[in-house]
Amino acid sequence: MGEIWIKEAERLGDGSIGGAMDTPGAPPRVVWHTTESGHGDTFFKNVGDYLIRVGAEPHILYDPSTDRLGQYGPLSQSARALRNDGLTRTNRTGKVCIQIEVLAKAARPFTEYWKPGPNFKALMRAIRSWGVPDVWPAGALADRYADPDVSRSRTVWATRGGHYGHSQVPGNDHWDPGAISKPAIFAAAPKEAAPAPTPKPSTPAKPVVPTVDLSNLIAAARRDPGLKQGGTTHPADVRIVEGALKAEGLLPAAYASDGSFGSSTVAAYRKWQQRCGYTGSAADGIPGKASLEKLGAKRGFKVKA
Ligand SMILES: [Zn+2]
Repeated sequence: MGEIWIKEAERLGDGSIGGAMDTPGAPPRVVWHTTESGHGDTFFKNVGDYLIRVGAEPHILYDPSTDRLGQYGPLSQSARALRNDGLTRTNRTGKVCIQIEVLAKAARPFTEYWKPGPNFKALMRAIRSWGVPDVWPAGALADRYADPDVSRSRTVWATRGGHYGHSQVPGNDHWDPGAISKPAIFAAAPKEAAPAPTPKPSTPAKPVVPTVDLSNLIAAARRDPGLKQGGTTHPADVRIVEGALKAEGLLPAAYASDGSFGSSTVAAYRKWQQRCGYTGSAADGIPGKASLEKLGAKRGFKVKA
């Protein structure tokens, strides 16, 4: 369902101008008319009232000189500005048949001097909301009465969606809206850029669980205390364990990230082993699989044994 009442438009008349469409399965369309009058607020009022009086209301009354926009009836129903084509009720052809009376004259195409503004954009937004394509399926618009170059093909009218001039509707003989610029209608209301696709909510990156290599740690714990202060063997593995020992309150911060499994780290690891229940030579400060896995489970690393 598209926009039924354009919120930017003034309401004209009592809001009731037609009824259900006869061929709602047919493509949506727009028909452009000109009122064959002047423009400005006086004409807007007088011509607007006249169309009600004679029962020829379109959906929309538009002033191309002021961008003033009025609406007589719901876009989802028919309007009254077309003549029937025999038994075909042209006003009721299509999913919608949105009719627009422009305060202008066919002999002076309004796209040559108009000042379309936000209200024209609102009108086009509403038109497009019904799926009316930005095309003119019936070819050339009339540039004079009984213009022989103009087609009023019944087939096109019945089967093609888009924009029509009154001059292109079968069963009708008016030549409005004149030879307006067909592309100008669309250019005055560029389509909104398609909204950027909403980025998929990124699955939060799984925290990377670091892995330490038990044999590397054992090698470091055996070798590093004999190196000169701060010497390292497998610093990447050692730093992870140092961080865990520090978090346990067993290793002073000063030694906690040097990557060296020196004597302070050995002493800290011994305390961890004792915490785990090891005693005597079982708590020698050299990591073993069970105590290391316990530390990793508590402090967030895995052990590769
Ligand atoms: Zn007309």
